[in-house]
Amino acid sequence: EQPEFDLRNYIRNIPDFPKPGILFHDISPLLRNADAWQVATGRLARVIAPWQPDILAGIESRGFLTAAPLAQRLGCGFVMLRKPGKLPGETVSLDYGLEYGHDTLQIQVDAIKPGQRVVILDDLLATGGTLAASVQLLRNVGAEVVGCSVMIELTGLHGRDKLDIPLHSLIHYE
Ligand code: IMP
Repeated sequence: EQPEFDLRNYIRNIPDFPKPGILFHDISPLLRNADAWQVATGRLARVIAPWQPDILAGIESRGFLTAAPLAQRLGCGFVMLRKPGKLPGETVSLDYGLEYGHDTLQIQVDAIKPGQRVVILDDLLATGGTLAASVQLLRNVGAEVVGCSVMIELTGLHGRDKLDIPLHSLIHYE
């Protein structure tokens, strides 16, 4: 571990994407730099391991990028929370409100054994709507959600306040 390694240098902020007026925080430079990616996953592993999860749940699609390799590293299972219509078999859905409109996430009904300890991962926390819905969806299928972890937290939107479990972020912006 290199404590001085500043992951912020590997986030690119792109104005007006995907719509005018939105500043998009792009993790692609971090993913394509071998050292930055090692540092990021190492730091995530050290935070998540003490929560002793059985399952890491990734939110489509950038949540998969951290949840899958960390599940392997920590000896956990990996579960996908997906956009509607992507998962085969019986699924459970949750519809949640966004600033403009709404969105839906789905999980396979048998993804979680009752009481399994689950940590949820995504790339970024903005308003917190996506992560709060994911917590609820996992609880609806019997999970004990023990924590959430994101690479980037936009603190000015107070998304953290929508969560009733610990949230860890690697990098934050006001
Ligand atoms: P929230 O529900 O408002 O917290 O938005 C978080 C969701 O939107 C996450 O699933 C993110 O992947 C996505 N998102 C919002 N803004 C950005 C961004 O600037 N970069 C990458 N993803 C973003």
